[in-house]
Amino acid sequence: MSAEPARAPEPGRAPGRHVLILGGTTEARRLAEALAGAPAQAQAQAGDEARAELRRGGPACPPGQAVRVTTSLAGRVAAPVLPPGETRIGGFGGPSGLARWITAHGVTDLVDATHPFAERMSFNAAEAAALTGVPLLALRRPGWTPGPGDAWTFADSLADAAAVLPGLGGRAFLTTGRMGLHAFAHLTDTWFLVRSVDPPAAPAPARLEVLLDRGPFTLEGERELLARHRIDVLVTKDSGGAATAPKLTAAREAGIPVLVVRRPPVPEGVAEAGSVAGALRALRYDHAH
Ligand code: NAP
Repeated sequence: MSAEPARAPEPGRAPGRHVLILGGTTEARRLAEALAGAPAQAQAQAGDEARAELRRGGPACPPGQAVRVTTSLAGRVAAPVLPPGETRIGGFGGPSGLARWITAHGVTDLVDATHPFAERMSFNAAEAAALTGVPLLALRRPGWTPGPGDAWTFADSLADAAAVLPGLGGRAFLTTGRMGLHAFAHLTDTWFLVRSVDPPAAPAPARLEVLLDRGPFTLEGERELLARHRIDVLVTKDSGGAATAPKLTAAREAGIPVLVVRRPPVPEGVAEAGSVAGALRALRYDHAH
């Protein structure tokens, strides 16, 4: 940690730091745990990499200076797993609404830790950061890449995925989330196993079984699921995260093709971290002192 004294608060800003995390992902929760928790507590919760980072430098804040952490959730999931620190739920009302919230609550650091497919919110965050002058860090997990034995086909959108799906299989395990189900609703010859946290709403495909479940999932569980439902194609977004996901490994083992929806574009010129540990590093060294 640097020996320089903490920077004096700017006029109109509350003393100390207030980190606003735009969440809805495991990484967002881990970051809130690491920032909001006492170091010992955070070390127990934050995962191996973040644990090592905390051991190296302590919490992302000079000693004696409190970090206030607020996580914002869109409110899509009925019973979300709430992170430590403060939580607010629901949209801000576009980039200007987010900018107003940032100013009104003395936010000093904005972290976009939304899902790689939450395209609108990432652009809103970039615009709000530009409007307020508050630094923005995007926490973006790396995407997946196919390895030996993988049979992946890429699609640019859910609509493109629906167009090529019938050529790949007739019994699809659809893991792209309940919100985009309408893109597949017209496929009457395909049978779908859909896994989501909350029940999907119409329009949805006619031949459909819904599995309500929340990760993390195991390789053994994914193998069993593919076999039990005689799945012959897996559809996934390139959500990324760990080097691979059990569903991708299970599909490779079973020789099942995978249809991967590519990530949408991200705003240009935003500082990025690929992991919670990287985000902790960037938050401390970029503007903590
Ligand atoms: P989106 O299309 O990028 O955002 C749509 C609107 O939802 C935004 O304009 C914003 O409303 C509100 N919103 C999104 N994220 C928010 C947040 N963290 N806090 C407050 N408001 C938020 O997002 P989405 O794809 O619907 O995803 C919604 C949430 O689910 C995100 O937080 C994301 O991390 C999580 N999630 C998404 C996916 C996915 O595949 N898309 C998967 C897993 C988790 P206002 O303009 O009114 O502020």
